[in-house]
Amino acid sequence: VKAVGKAIFNSEGVAYRFSGTLQDVTEDHNIQLRKDEFISVASHELKTPITSLNASMQILQKLIKTENVSDKIRLFVGKAGNNLNKLVHLLDDLLNVTKLQQGQLALNKTRFNLGDLVRDSCEHLSQDDSHLITVTGPDDVMVYADYRRIDQVLVNLVNNAIKYSPQAKMVDITFGSENGVAIVYVQDYGIGINPEKLPHLFDRYYRVDGLGHQFSGLGLGLYISAEIIKRHDGNISVDSVWGNGSTFSFTLPLD
Ligand code: ADP
Repeated sequence: VKAVGKAIFNSEGVAYRFSGTLQDVTEDHNIQLRKDEFISVASHELKTPITSLNASMQILQKLIKTENVSDKIRLFVGKAGNNLNKLVHLLDDLLNVTKLQQGQLALNKTRFNLGDLVRDSCEHLSQDDSHLITVTGPDDVMVYADYRRIDQVLVNLVNNAIKYSPQAKMVDITFGSENGVAIVYVQDYGIGINPEKLPHLFDRYYRVDGLGHQFSGLGLGLYISAEIIKRHDGNISVDSVWGNGSTFSFTLPLD
């Protein structure tokens, strides 16, 4: 049962009165667990065929570079490759949720320059040239973290910044060290977030409702990102002006 309200205590500190609302959340919890279970089974079933498709696609992509094939074949292999990439990312999210649930998301920490990660990552992201991505930050921020996982967090945040700003075409990434920790900001000038929805944003399967079918997604990216940052003893947060954009930020301990 979830209680939202005020308890009144006697002089011995024992609560004797409560005013507010009580909500039975057992059902919510069960639904959540059933979703987890389904995701776990479905993602394992999808893993084998998608992995095998991906291996074939990589061979095909190599072949079309060296063999004499028509432009039409090149075009369709290119399209199939892009869509397969999206599928692989979706599957990755599903598999990550199961790993997180089972406490099996291991971190492989190394020492690296945060600026290198941010710049490398954004170089790949800028290939989607719908938005101009700017990166600002100093060259001496060293962290001890899981490079691949932090890259995954940054990619999630930047992809969201792009996805949820169909009108404004800019995304600004700023990083540095502040108050003894490393920090990365991802700022967009898009649709922003209703303040009432902010507390739920990092919950698993949560998506802001009322946006129609305009934006696709599973509601997992922010949950996974938050879990990764938590496991690094960092913090993730969001600041948003509804209708005017959002700034997501995360911190990491300095090396
Ligand atoms: P997804 O994007 O797959 O729905 P996420 O977990 O990444 O899932 O995000 C959860 C929800 O938070 C999204 O459905 C969206 O409503 C909201 N959101 C995330 N990032 C932004 C952003 N940059 N601007 C506005 N809304 C956002």
